[in-house]
Amino acid sequence: SFVLSKRSKETPPSGIRKIFNKAMFLEDVIHLEIGEPDFDTPQYIKEAGCKAILNKYTHYTHNAGLLELREAIADYYRSTQNVDISLENTLVSIGGTGALLLSLLAIVDIGDEVLLPNPGYPPYTSMVKMIGAIPKYYSLKENESFLPNIEEIENIITNNTKVIIINTPNNPTGIVYPSNILRRISELAEDYDLVVISDEVYERLIFDNLNHYSILKFSEEGNVIVIGSFSKSYAMTGWRVGFAVSNNVKIIKSMTELQEHVAICAPAMAQKAAFVALSESQEEAENMVKQYEKRRNLVVSLLNEFPNVSFVKPQGAFYLFLNISHYSKDSYKFAEELLLKKKVAVAPGATFGSLGEGYVRISFANSEENIEEGVKRLKEFLMELK
Ligand code: PLP
Repeated sequence: SFVLSKRSKETPPSGIRKIFNKAMFLEDVIHLEIGEPDFDTPQYIKEAGCKAILNKYTHYTHNAGLLELREAIADYYRSTQNVDISLENTLVSIGGTGALLLSLLAIVDIGDEVLLPNPGYPPYTSMVKMIGAIPKYYSLKENESFLPNIEEIENIITNNTKVIIINTPNNPTGIVYPSNILRRISELAEDYDLVVISDEVYERLIFDNLNHYSILKFSEEGNVIVIGSFSKSYAMTGWRVGFAVSNNVKIIKSMTELQEHVAICAPAMAQKAAFVALSESQEEAENMVKQYEKRRNLVVSLLNEFPNVSFVKPQGAFYLFLNISHYSKDSYKFAEELLLKKKVAVAPGATFGSLGEGYVRISFANSEENIEEGVKRLKEFLMELK
């Protein structure tokens, strides 16, 4: 008889998908649940993709990706983070997702423990379980500005701990990690011989003139793998191009060899388009960030004065993590009822981990008009709940 693997049963769709799938059957829904840019890929990047197809970028590339793209990624990290990186330290993957999976495959054995943020991006847990490793969680708490607590992390490290995953700018909290926290995580990782996988797919989406610091900058002897992506920075989610940068070329070599067996390479024409995205004027990408910042200001001002909800002002990405625990202790039920009664879709906090219960994630990758209407309906819903 046909039996699905335990693995497949342990990896159910996230709560974001569940709400999205329900919302598909309703009309006039305001979508504040989805984590993807509402902007379309800039025209010059689309044209580069079309031209690449006509110029025969229709074959496999090297497992590690196009040389010119790897060079451009290395240049970018060298110049923005002032790190000593060259093309051998880079790998092009199928989205940041591909790089995450390859990182875990390269480093983690069955039974090893991987430290993950709670709340955190749902695929971290799924991937760790898929490869037979054990997720262990460190907390991100609202009253600590959703920043990792180093003492707590130190306390959950055991002899089996192999990796710590960090994420800045953060999904679902929108928090950007300051350099002192990254420095301390780096020291801790070096002390306990952990590999740091640093998910930086939102690194360009930063507000208030803050800087994105990559932990790569603070790692002197330790092993770091940075996960990057073109999805969010250039509104290229459908092109499926991401990358890894590591200070250890052996790790990149292993990930490259593994990539042969899981994907071969990222799509050639999309890699070429990504190269153009990274090498030409950054004006359009920067304009998108300005728009996100305006929308962040809008959603913050709309929610600021509202009674009995709280949040930490997002500094990056396009999410606000709203504490609704005064109104509901069941974020799934809350999100479902909000959708049915008011036609607003938000992501239930519990899908990001146990500490996300009592929260919903609001994505502001949407027009100001939709944000205004969505928050208005959310407020009506909350007032009716009182
Ligand atoms: N990491 C985080 C924190 C994300 O939110 C996402 C997408 O939502 C990804 C990684 C993966 O993005 P992609 O595979 O499109 O690069």
